[in-house]
Amino acid sequence: MNDPKYLRVPTIFEAFQKAGGKVAVLTAKDKLRRLLGHGLSFGDGSAVCFSSEHADKCTMEDNGITDVPAMVGMDVPDVYSAELSEFVFAAGVKLLKSMQPDLLYLSTTDYIQHKFAPGTDGANAFYAMIDRYLGEIDAAGATFVFTADHGMSAKHTVAEEPDILYLQELLDGWYGEGKTRVILPITDPYVVHHGALGSFATVYLEEGIDAGALIERLRLQDLIEVVYSREEGCRVFELPEDRVGDIIVVSRDSKVLGTAAARHDLSGLKEPLRSHGGISEQRVPVIVNRRMSEVPEGLRNFDAFFIGCNNVVLKQEAAA
Ligand SMILES: [Zn+2]
Repeated sequence: MNDPKYLRVPTIFEAFQKAGGKVAVLTAKDKLRRLLGHGLSFGDGSAVCFSSEHADKCTMEDNGITDVPAMVGMDVPDVYSAELSEFVFAAGVKLLKSMQPDLLYLSTTDYIQHKFAPGTDGANAFYAMIDRYLGEIDAAGATFVFTADHGMSAKHTVAEEPDILYLQELLDGWYGEGKTRVILPITDPYVVHHGALGSFATVYLEEGIDAGALIERLRLQDLIEVVYSREEGCRVFELPEDRVGDIIVVSRDSKVLGTAAARHDLSGLKEPLRSHGGISEQRVPVIVNRRMSEVPEGLRNFDAFFIGCNNVVLKQEAAA
């Protein structure tokens, strides 16, 4: 999603502000800032919302803050960099002390995780940076809930080549061109580090194509983990049916789905491909810097807000 017009409900941030809370929402990419900042009102100092990508373009009217690079003490980073995420943490720590928001939301990018496997120097340096800032957030007295929107896996062969099934080519071969349309949700304007290759695809079918027969045929493909009808897949993955194609296809652990070879620019892939979208990337950590009063069953990443507001034992209570 890249436009607020697709939002169906107001955000938690808007509700917090309307209830009298102070909120600060910081993202790495501006596309997400537009969604998360939707409905916030700026000007009375109770909301700040900006992206590190456009940190030098902030106005009081649209972001509730100006001169962000000077506040942070960093230049606006390149969109493909570890610093794009570091900027978010650095700005968050500054705001925690100056603005003292009731709710602070920090969102980074997964650029580094796409490029560097766990345990490599690039990955270690990134997590050391995050650890330093989490330490500062903790020292400032804030409760934090730290989680991810997906995992990340190696998606290549032993020869370190991406292991790709070009689904549109396959379907064009079976049905002819223009009969099916493969959508890869990983595709956004920034695809250099993964070539728009992930493990999830949804496919729209022209009328007359038998979805059931296609599902059976795809299930026989070696690289594919699951194929579902829209209805079944949306139930399994909790997706909205009106925003998903006729079928859902997920590739196996180390495999990825593409549309057609000619439509993927892999020239920017300098490291062996790492990506997400598969069943193998569903489990993510949820880390809280407080004792929890109870751990809810079937915890999900979006429960972070609920946990932070309702499930932590504050230091004062713990001492009492
Ligand atoms: Zn990604």
